[in-house]
This record gives sequence, structure tokens and C-alpha cells, in this order.
Amino acid sequence: MNFSTPVSKIPNIGPAYQKKLERLKIRTVADLLFHFPSRYEDFSKRDSISSIYHKGRYTVLGKITQVSSGKTAHRKFSFAKITIKDSTGRIGAIWFNQPYLTKTLEKGDQLLLSGNVDYSKDGLQFINPFYEKIIKGKTLENKIVPVYPETEGVSSKWLRFIIKPVLNEIEDKIQETLPEETVREKTLYSLPRALREIHFPSSSSSLKEAQRRISFERLFLLHLSLLRQKINLSRQKSVPIPTDIEKVQDLVSNLPFSLTDGQKKASWQILKDMERKFPMNRLLEGDVGSGKTIVAVIAALVAIKAGHQVAFMAPTEVLARQHFDEVAKLLWRFKIDVGLLTGKKDKLRSKKLKGDTVEISRKKLVEKAKRGDLDLLIGTHTLIQDSVKFKSLALVVLDEQHRFGVKQRAKLCLKEDSGIPHLLSMTATPIPRTLALTVYGDLSLSVISEMPKERKKIITKLIPPKKRKEAYLFIEEEIKKGRQAFFICPRIEEGEDKANSPWSDLKSVEEEKERLAKEVFPDFKVEMLHGKMKATEKEKVMNEFKRKKTNILVSTSVVEVGIDIRNASVMVIEGAEMFGLAQLHQFRGRVGRGEFQSYCFLFTTSTSEKTRKRLRALLTSENGFQLAEKDLEIRGPGDFLGKRQWGSADFTMDALKNRPLVEEAREAAKKTLEEDQQLKNHPSLKKRVDSLKEKLHLE
Ligand code: ADP
Ligand code: MG
Repeated sequence: MNFSTPVSKIPNIGPAYQKKLERLKIRTVADLLFHFPSRYEDFSKRDSISSIYHKGRYTVLGKITQVSSGKTAHRKFSFAKITIKDSTGRIGAIWFNQPYLTKTLEKGDQLLLSGNVDYSKDGLQFINPFYEKIIKGKTLENKIVPVYPETEGVSSKWLRFIIKPVLNEIEDKIQETLPEETVREKTLYSLPRALREIHFPSSSSSLKEAQRRISFERLFLLHLSLLRQKINLSRQKSVPIPTDIEKVQDLVSNLPFSLTDGQKKASWQILKDMERKFPMNRLLEGDVGSGKTIVAVIAALVAIKAGHQVAFMAPTEVLARQHFDEVAKLLWRFKIDVGLLTGKKDKLRSKKLKGDTVEISRKKLVEKAKRGDLDLLIGTHTLIQDSVKFKSLALVVLDEQHRFGVKQRAKLCLKEDSGIPHLLSMTATPIPRTLALTVYGDLSLSVISEMPKERKKIITKLIPPKKRKEAYLFIEEEIKKGRQAFFICPRIEEGEDKANSPWSDLKSVEEEKERLAKEVFPDFKVEMLHGKMKATEKEKVMNEFKRKKTNILVSTSVVEVGIDIRNASVMVIEGAEMFGLAQLHQFRGRVGRGEFQSYCFLFTTSTSEKTRKRLRALLTSENGFQLAEKDLEIRGPGDFLGKRQWGSADFTMDALKNRPLVEEAREAAKKTLEEDQQLKNHPSLKKRVDSLKEKLHLE
């Protein structure tokens, strides 16, 4: 047996369990051993049942006196219910949607329960607690018991039962992944020892050490991968673009506003990068409305005036069109030919046409780009199609970069044979500085941290159910004044069984649109926008909203990030508690773009003080970066980095919060690379780093 042995070869795992494990994506011994507990229960501290007179977290040990199951009346949840007693009293426990529990739990069983106790109509009871059956005559094997992310029929207990002999058998054969000197210098546990402690902790301090080791390893690999990418990038060639400072001044001094310090600094950093002989790979971060576009336009102007072409890619058609209109206007004074390529109604604004904008066939536009007869091509992902070629592409701008996949980006940047174009990515998702520094290193990040001065503060309010009516009335007044409103609803996942889903209380876009149109705002025009609509439909809805034909736009959280609608003054977010602060802040940024005082209403039904406190941060803070830091604290980095792309990276996520460890791992990775740049002496390490590279979301 070794790491790559399929789980089917493990004793006690038949086809049925294999299937269940498959659902957890556990296919090999390695998958099994790296299926880490999501948390641990410390059973050494137990409560007597009589001491529970208030809601909270408790751990009790007792005997089951009653087992029953059923369905809740109106919601049709299935539930399993038990009562247990110890020498001091008795208490109930209920589990929802786990009917199979009644098959495992029997009257008379000794049971350890641990979890949340809350009020119910039967008084205080445990809700979905963790449980552990105590086999007669045996004491608890461990006081600290791992709890794994479970699926039906794969209990934590069973996992431990399976993992133990596997670990015993292969422990001696597990190879160390980290360089020996790193393990020594950082006094880390060896990999086998860490794995053992993770699954079978002998004490809380050794568990911590094991977790430190695993976290360190993940961070180390992450840094190695990033550092190697950076080295590779610096070896590639691209065209150096000298800065024509007069042109920049010409552009800037003719703007109707003056640049903020953040915009100036970012522009300068970008221009400096482009002067070098190797490709720029810079991320420009700035809150919604902080004015990133003009910074990109400055870079584009310089590249174009140096005789090159620029590609500007936006994630949606609506955004691409918006950019085309604005950018073409800004650059017209410089007699620059700008094309819009989205797949339909492509456009051209050119000096030959005296600056008129005309429709042009896709074929003609593509030919122009290829001949070098077009300076700037703005578009959607259509820009990465193979048929689109440039004569001398020197700069690629990616707006809302997180909306593009790694492959798409790579493809766009490799378009050129003569050299790799410089890449400027832009995002309004404020990645907290701590995280950004880790992932990008300080070299390639520009941040615009302030908003243009004259921007009005958006009035933000938390609206509990009883204040809803009042809010609706207020919105009605705004619309009567001629303003428009956005309503954002949390998304319902496709195929999700609504009745059984925790989302069932949340408003779906369709239902909400109907309700608003019929019951709340019957006099106004309400439209909706969601991810499953066709692009043409979306665009139609968006255009009508832009042209003020629609008063209210109901949409999911997934559509149209950067859209600029100056007449909209109200942003309502339903189920606000479902979103991260940074995301809420982004929604809010869609209003307050014009001269009107704007409002953001956070509708919430949550009564949890913690949730309300979190949301209240939005009332006082307007700074997306501060909010993002708060999110990082409260919710962890998963919200900022595409979780999916990182695989089972929760450990990495948690590790990223640990700043000192991040630094240590970076130093160690640097050192390893300094001694062995190609990782020739560390083949297994190299293999892991290479496989990680494909999974990385941010580069
Ligand atoms: P984002 O960073 O969200 O992409 P935009 O680039 O779309 O923001 O800019 C939002 C609005 O702010 C635009 O209408 C733009 O013209 C305007 N703007 C940009 N920079 C400034 C500035 N320094 N002062 C005032 N308005 C600005
Ligand atoms: Mg933008």
C-alpha cells in the first residue's frame, strides 16, 4: 500500500463505501489521509445536564431513553429525535435531515453529545449536535476527537476506524515533502507524524504542532509556485514601451477632474513596469467607482502612441460597450482607432470616419486588428478566439480580472509571437493587503485606496422585517422623484430542493420580481436580471434600465459588476446576512455614482447579534479594504480566492490568515529556490509545485 493505492484496496471498503467516499472525492490512500477533520471536539470538558439552563455550546455524556423520528409540519424537514439522561437530569437532541440516525442510535446506548443547545417548543435541546456512541466497557479512546466533513453514511467514527490501520501500515513509507533542512530549521513535525496527530491527536499542543506543519507546507508550496512563476516571467521578453509624458499630461489635463493620488501612483507604477523588457503582470485594485478605467486608459494611450496595439477585455458585453463608449470618447483627441468586438453589433470609431462611430462586420474588424490598422480593441472573451490576431499587441487590460479563468488570461497574453504583451488586471474585489502581499508579492500590486473627492456618502441602513414597509415607502418616494432602484437577491443554486434547503427562506429573483411588481410597487415597471438569461435578453433589460424605461431592477448577485447607472439612487439587498462585507460593499458601489444622494438598505431577517454586528460595519465604514480585512477576520480567505480552484485548500485558507507563518514560509521558499532554482535536488517537491500551478487562481 502507498499514497496512490485506490481506496477499493483498503480492507473494509466495499463498493458501497467506495461510492460514498467518491462523494467526498476520496479515491486514493492519499486522498483519505489528507481528508482532514474540519474541527475537533474536546471531550475532556463535560457538562452535567442539570447545568444547562441557557442556550450555548455544551458537551454531555448520558444514556439514551427515547428515540423517535418524523417530519416537521409545514416545512417537511425530516428529523430524528432522542432524549438522553445522566445522573443529574435529561435533555433532548434533534437532528434535521439525517433520518438514518434512528438506525444507529438505540435506546440504552451510552452517548456523548456535543454542540449547540437552543430553545424549542419542547424546551432547551441540542440542535444537530455531534455525537459519539460509547461502546460498553470502553472508555473514550481520545479526549480530542476529530470531526470530519461528513456525508451520509460516512461518519467520523467510521473514518477513524478506516484511517487507523492504513496509517499504521504506510507510516514508515511516507516520504517527506519538505526539504530536510527546512524541517530541521523550522522545527516542524515530519509528515507522517503530522498526519498521525491530525487524525489521532494525543494532546492539544501536539495537534497544534501538526497543524502548523501542514499549514507551513501548504504555504511553502504556494510560495514556491508563485516565486517560480515570477522568475519565469522575468525571463520572458516583451516590448519595452517608453513613456511619452507629454501625451499623458495632455490626456490628464483635459479631464473634467483631477486624478486622485492613488490614481497617479498606480499610473506611474504601471508606466514604469511597461518600460521594462520583461512583461508586466500587475494587479490594479480599487473600490468600485475609484476610477480604475482612466488609469488603464493612460497606459493604453502610452502603448498606442509608442506604435503598438492594446486589447481591453471586459467580462460582459454590457461592460464592454460601456467601456467602448467612454474610452473612445476619452481617446478621440488623440486620433486613435477603437474597435468593439463582442460577437454582435461590432463597432468602430476611427479617424478616417472623422470620429463617427459605425457598425462594422466582425470579419472586417478582425482583419483591421491583424493588419495593425486598429489601435485599441475592446471586447468580451471573444478577444481570445484564435481568429483574433494583432500585428503588434503590447498591452492587455483585463477588467474585473477575477471573472476570467486562468486559462483565458494565459491565452490572451500569449497571443503575440514577437514578445509577451504587458498585462494589467483590474479588480474591485478588495483583496486584503495581507493576502495580496502573500499571493502577489509587493512588486506587482497597485492599490487605489481613496475615492474621488466629490463623491457623496451613501446612506446605509440595516432593515429588520418590521421596518420593511417604511423602507418601501421611502423607495417609492425616490422613484417618484425620478430615481431608480436595484434589488439584489441571494442566488438559489440550481437543482436545490427548495424545501430542504437553508436557502428556502431567501427570495429568488423571479418570485421577488413578481411580488414587487404586483404587491409592493404596482405603479412602477419592475424587471429582472439573472445568470440564466440569454446575453441578448440581459442586454435588453440592462439597456432599458439605463434608458430609465424601468424603475426597478431585481437581480442576482452574479450579474454585471461594474455597470455605471448614474440615475440609480437605491440599492436594496435581500438576505444581506448571506453576503460577505466586501461583496455587500460592492453592491452598494453601484449607486451613488451620479449627483444624487443615494441609499443602501440591507434587508435582513437574522436575529443573531453576531450577524447584525457584522453588517453594522457597513454602516460606519466606506472603505472596501477595511471591510475586506474584517471579512478576512470573520469569514476567512475563502471569499477572496476562488475556493474551487484551490482544491481542498481550507488548510491553506486558514494558514493564509497566519501572517508570521506566511512570512516564514516565504523566506524558506526563497532560500530553497536560491540554492536550487530548478528544484533539481527536490524532484518530488517539484512535482507537487507543478501540479499546484494549474490550480492557482491568482498569479
Ligand atoms: P471603477 O474603478 O469602478 O472602474 P470607473 O473607472 O468606472 O470606476 O470610474 C467611475 C466614475 O468616476 C467615472 O464616471 C469616472 O469618469 C469618474 N472618475 C474617475 N476618476 C475620477 C476622479 N479623480 N475624480 C472624479 N471623478 C472621477
Ligand atoms: Mg470598472
